Amino acid sequence: MLARKRRGPFVAGNWKMHLTLAEARELAREVAAAAPGLGGSGLVLVPPFTSLAAVGDAVAGSAVGLGAQDLYWEDKGAFTGEVSGPMLKDAGCAYVLVGHSERRRLFGETDETVNRKARAALRSGLSPVVCVGEVLEEREAGRTTARIDLQLAGGLAGLSGEDMGRVIIAYEPVWAIGTGKTASPAQAEEVHAHIRRRLEEAYGKGAAGCAIIYGGSVKPANSYSLFKEENIDGFLVGGASLEADGFVGIVREALRAYREET
Ligand code: PEP
Repeated sequence: MLARKRRGPFVAGNWKMHLTLAEARELAREVAAAAPGLGGSGLVLVPPFTSLAAVGDAVAGSAVGLGAQDLYWEDKGAFTGEVSGPMLKDAGCAYVLVGHSERRRLFGETDETVNRKARAALRSGLSPVVCVGEVLEEREAGRTTARIDLQLAGGLAGLSGEDMGRVIIAYEPVWAIGTGKTASPAQAEEVHAHIRRRLEEAYGKGAAGCAIIYGGSVKPANSYSLFKEENIDGFLVGGASLEADGFVGIVREALRAYREET
């Protein structure tokens, strides 16, 4: 049943607009200290811009990677308040979130800006974590996959199969983010399998390297059953990533599911 899955869970913790420098350092150290016991998984911390350097220092030499929450699509220039791909790379990032639903909903991001940002990330040597997901009304109206298709087509326009080997897709049903409501494993898998099919149609073998992770109120208690699903390659975690126990617990439970199948 789980024949396709060949690698351990990829789990990213999106700290959103939380934590002082001292708190960020402390949490990053705790996660880095747990990392040796979580071998086989990909761990990434995604702090606010102000904590990137401190978190980068705290996880240096560990298996924990660094990601940013957003970037601008130009490399430099008069764009007050923005941060570019080369700057993130220079700060030690390997990943960057693109098109998180909070950016789309609160800051007017569109599939077109998502696409510009994804391309800019790739150009800078960063792996974009491209976020897609439907709102509740779309799900209730049976328009989930149509919405996802539009977000994929728009957000990934012009990317090659080779690019896709460096892209991560995060499926995050908007109604499950920060609400305590999680998509059931079957609901999530249905959309992940759909995304996988769409990627294969568009990119053929290039899609094989593309991880599709789930986000939306993931906790240690639901991580095992979600990761058991064939097309769920890991998680994008918000609230539960703000405590080391929660974040590490999610990774442990996903690893438990992974080890049972390998
Ligand atoms: C997120 O912000 O990407 C997210 C999934 O948040 P939460 O885990 O809090 O639902």
